[in-house]
Amino acid sequence: MVKRIAIFGSTGSIGTQALEVIEANPDKFSVEILTAYTNDKLLIEQALKFNPNIVVIADDRKYEIVKDALSNTPIKVFAGEKALNEVALMDSYDLMLAAIVGYAGFQPTFNAIEAGKPVALANKETLVVAGDIVMQKAFEKRVPVIPVDSEHSAIFQCLVGEGRNKIEKIILTASGGPFLGKKPNFLVNVKRDHALQHPNWAMGAKITIDSATLMNKGLEMIEAKWLFSLHPDQIQVMIHPQSIIHSMVQFEDGSIKAQMGLPDMKLPIQYALAFPQRLPNQFPRYDFKKPSTLNFEEPDLRTFRNLVLATEALYKGGNMPCILNAANEIAVYAFLRNKIGFLDITAVIEKTMEKIKFIEKPVLTDYFESDAEARQYAASLIQL
Ligand code: NAD
Ligand code: MG
Repeated sequence: MVKRIAIFGSTGSIGTQALEVIEANPDKFSVEILTAYTNDKLLIEQALKFNPNIVVIADDRKYEIVKDALSNTPIKVFAGEKALNEVALMDSYDLMLAAIVGYAGFQPTFNAIEAGKPVALANKETLVVAGDIVMQKAFEKRVPVIPVDSEHSAIFQCLVGEGRNKIEKIILTASGGPFLGKKPNFLVNVKRDHALQHPNWAMGAKITIDSATLMNKGLEMIEAKWLFSLHPDQIQVMIHPQSIIHSMVQFEDGSIKAQMGLPDMKLPIQYALAFPQRLPNQFPRYDFKKPSTLNFEEPDLRTFRNLVLATEALYKGGNMPCILNAANEIAVYAFLRNKIGFLDITAVIEKTMEKIKFIEKPVLTDYFESDAEARQYAASLIQL
């Protein structure tokens, strides 16, 4: 059976790599829906090549351009945020790849689960913002949420076959990003172009900055809590600069399972799309005969304070991770536009976490409001 895939965020780093996986496995996957934010050119190119039934361009100013370019095809074209959310509810696809970046990915992903569609989840922010509600909904609808994030894919793969065996803890590995070993006196002068140079992974701009500040690992701790029903004490972060071990699970008997391989997102993407199957591929293999060392060290929490803030949010729960995420998004985009310095990102998040009202048991609308308030407050700090 051919799985019909809906790629939300098809023009991004994850989206384009997913299309490579699909292209290599035409007997397994077809493309049903493609969506993009503003990149009309790439969306059109992808649509002509993969022939989906539907494309959505979220930026509705681009509607005419996309519509005209696809007018000789049967492809239906929609535009705007509302269309994005509605298309996610449609019946015509089998699995959503949630590859939009940031909070913008929340509603379409939530709608897919609501509609009973399995989700391959790259968009970690969805679980950071409202993990309790999202996972509860997935449970109610009996919808699998299959992680795409490499660390979570690693843990997921380690858990296959373990049934009810209990996890003692997980060890989330982190590359450390481009500023591993650096101190605040160095980081204070860091500029966007330097922060965008990740040693091991080529990714979208937002997650690349999150990797440089270690916020990415903080978001991933929260993501792991929800995906694997963990207590915060069960989540340990270790720096592993080579990114060969993608994460580990330690069981109650002390046995540790690790998932390894070269850093290549196509592997966790393919695993999530094809789960529970593994598909053959030609991706480069890790070679034990080539001299290399695998190192592990503890993160430098005095320097990379975003990880401390995220850990605080993880323990505090309620709407705190949502506030953290909103402030982080605002701060990261401000940093990318050279409006604030690298260390200011942490300051903006910390102040926003102090300012916005804490809600212990939020309902969905509380999350929407906390997100909006946190964004507004974080933005007000930056304009000053
Ligand atoms: P990206 O910036 O390369 O792509 C983002 C995609 O989302 C694009 O297709 C863009 O058009 C779309 N988009 C952005 N804003 C939107 C909006 N407001 N409305 C609708 N669509 C919008 O990002 P990416 O690196 O591919 O990351 C996507 C998600 O996957 C993120 O949540 C990220 O944390 C996660 N992730 C990425 C990687 C990676 O290697 N890139 C690894 C693990 C997890
Ligand atoms: Mg990751």
